[in-house]
Amino acid sequence: MEQTPPTKTPPADIDRLEQSASNVLAATFGSLEEVPVPVRIGEIAKESGVQVKAGEFEHPDVSGMYLRDERTIYVDLDDEVNRQAFTIAHELGHHYLHADKHKEVYFRHFSEQLNFEDKQQEREANWFAACLLMPRHAMLRAWSDTKETRELAHTFEVSQTAIYYRLTELGLAA
Ligand SMILES: [Zn+2]
Repeated sequence: MEQTPPTKTPPADIDRLEQSASNVLAATFGSLEEVPVPVRIGEIAKESGVQVKAGEFEHPDVSGMYLRDERTIYVDLDDEVNRQAFTIAHELGHHYLHADKHKEVYFRHFSEQLNFEDKQQEREANWFAACLLMPRHAMLRAWSDTKETRELAHTFEVSQTAIYYRLTELGLAA
């Protein structure tokens, strides 16, 4: 990366989020070893009993929404597939972590900023999403093949920023 990215600061209870995401992955794909990369987020949603619908939002800054009563995640049709996947993973984070949250709107502005959210639940949902789309064991395996952020981002179909934060959190990148 050309610029020095900001220091990452995962939540103190990142292990709990990781465990929660691992449970969901294992439940969907049989075991952590069987999780396909890139992680098929649509299958996870389906296994979770959550519908995913793509549409257009009136507000241009909105990239996703989750309505618990409808068990439905809405994603922006115009977003790139990778961003849609992160949005779905984020909303699944709320589904699993925040039972008190009945309606949630996810703003595009936050999606890349795993670190800068002041809202605790948003931060938790983002890190849950990171753990879901970049599973620990799969990251360790991929890291042994390549140390290239760009290549890893391609493999996991996430942004390079997301890869960087996850690597740092796993103690793989300085
Ligand atoms: Zn959210």
